[in-house]
Amino acid sequence: MNSAKSYLIFPLDVATLEEARKYVTLLRNHVGIFKIGLELFIHAGPQVVHAVQELAPDSRIFLDLKLHDIPETVRRATLRMASLGVTYATIHCGDSIKMLEAAASGAGNKLKLLGVTVLTSVSKEDIHAAGYSPSIADNLSELVLKKAEMARKAEFAGVICSGHEAQQIKARCGRSFLAVTPGIRPAWELSEDDDQERVMTPARAIQNGADYLVIGRPIRNAQDPTQAAGQILEDIQRSLPA
Ligand code: C5P
Repeated sequence: MNSAKSYLIFPLDVATLEEARKYVTLLRNHVGIFKIGLELFIHAGPQVVHAVQELAPDSRIFLDLKLHDIPETVRRATLRMASLGVTYATIHCGDSIKMLEAAASGAGNKLKLLGVTVLTSVSKEDIHAAGYSPSIADNLSELVLKKAEMARKAEFAGVICSGHEAQQIKARCGRSFLAVTPGIRPAWELSEDDDQERVMTPARAIQNGADYLVIGRPIRNAQDPTQAAGQILEDIQRSLPA
């Protein structure tokens, strides 16, 4: 069975290398995977990857750049990412499996790819306005599942999805296909004015089959981030089968 720590992905949603170093140092004993996103990578580049590797050699790195381009460009980009020594990277599932296959070919066996299906910020009205038929717009979870199947066919390791979709994705794509879920809020942190719309507690997401939980602001904005992460690990631990 996985340890509670191995479930926790902390997004380094900060602007500078100094701040990233601070959070990695505070949280390296509590976090299984540090996620580096566009803001930090655009500012600090590959040196932030090396800094995290040095400060937290036991943690893994998830480079969340959400690529989407012509197949050859994406293949060359995943080839570069694979040489950085990160474990996971994200690619938009997009509209054609060719881009996903090209990404997988660049990644080889050095990098695990996660597909971004439909962003949780996108509504059915947005999908309709983008030219999809009403039958697709009215059934967004089917669109999410179709994109997840595309990622599985291209031999991706899994997808990013909400905790609400994890169970269906596992049923359709297989138990070993990873469900990585953002929008997680500890029970003590659930609030009406959160900008993440479909939130879920860590325990509930794990019961639904989530393999990893992305939890940012409840830790980053806490008075004591290390203590908040510790409390989340206790919640996760209680939800794991004895
Ligand atoms: O826990 P918190 O809401 O702060 O987490 C924010 C992180 O989750 C960001 O790094 C963001 O990229 C990521 N994320 C998300 N919603 C998605 C996919 C990823 O919030 N659908």
